[in-house]
Amino acid sequence: MHAHVAIDGPVAGGKTTVARLLARELGYLYLDTGAMYRAVAVMGLRYGVELDSERAVLEVVREHAVHVELDTHGDRGYRVFAGGLELGEELFAREVAAVVSVVAAHPAVRDELTQRQREIAALGPVVMAGRDIGTIVLPDAPVKIFLTASVEARVQRRFEEYSRQGNPPDLAHLRAQIEERDRIDRSRAVAPLRVAEGAVVIDSSDLTPEAVVQMIHARVRAVAAVR
Ligand code: C5P
Repeated sequence: MHAHVAIDGPVAGGKTTVARLLARELGYLYLDTGAMYRAVAVMGLRYGVELDSERAVLEVVREHAVHVELDTHGDRGYRVFAGGLELGEELFAREVAAVVSVVAAHPAVRDELTQRQREIAALGPVVMAGRDIGTIVLPDAPVKIFLTASVEARVQRRFEEYSRQGNPPDLAHLRAQIEERDRIDRSRAVAPLRVAEGAVVIDSSDLTPEAVVQMIHARVRAVAAVR
């Protein structure tokens, strides 16, 4: 078992930024599993499939060969492909955010992606971010973190991200979308978002990403010392 770090938490809790920085510091692989679910949503929207239908969405995953490849030299740390083409910024479009939790609630889709995530974890120590990493994907990870923040802080962060892309959203609408995604992620029957057993909960509302990275890094060192 590699010394994986599992980071879970709600929408815009800071997982991606923190996980990427931490992986770089530790020299670990890095995977943002949300990008895989987003890739399925992108393809589902592109081909106009019925997103509520588990069978139709699973077919998208299989037929369009949705997969990720690690890319330790690239900025993002991994590359996402579907239908033989690389997906980029479209993964983070607002239309995708609006439907991704529906797609991610299908058990058969989760099984397929979970298997791929475990294959990546078999390659070496990884910092993996998502919703069910500490609970389902890598339950034996020696370091598990639940990274959260107040709704206000999370809405503000996402607002700034979209604004930097030149696309400032309506704040009330953004807040409603974030709360709805969290609600679906927390209440789905399979692999709901929750704090894994043994996870350390970090509230990042008033912390910089660097400060959070240092807290997790200290935990990694402490765990390594007793292993
Ligand atoms: O982390 P991100 O916001 O990119 O994730 C997008 C969506 O993918 C989440 O709202 C959730 O529905 C789904 N997801 C999941 N399990 C994971 C990672 C993401 O269900 N491990």
